Amino acid sequence: MFPEKEVFLMRKIFKCRDIGNNCEYQVSGNSEEEVLQRVSEHAKRAHNMKTISKELADKVRTAIYTLF
Ligand SMILES: [Zn+2]
Repeated sequence: MFPEKEVFLMRKIFKCRDIGNNCEYQVSGNSEEEVLQRVSEHAKRAHNMKTISKELADKVRTAIYTLF
């Protein structure tokens, strides 16, 4: 019964390639929100996106997978 530890051990992984970009960028975080935040910063810098549309955010969420 250590739910907090379980949460800590779960890693959310996202690869830019998984949403169709020819890009080696990969990010991990403890939560979907954390990953999404980093991905949006990356998208702005590397892919010249000024804003992250809801569509893109949904795409990213779908592509994020959990590593236990
Ligand atoms: Zn990228």
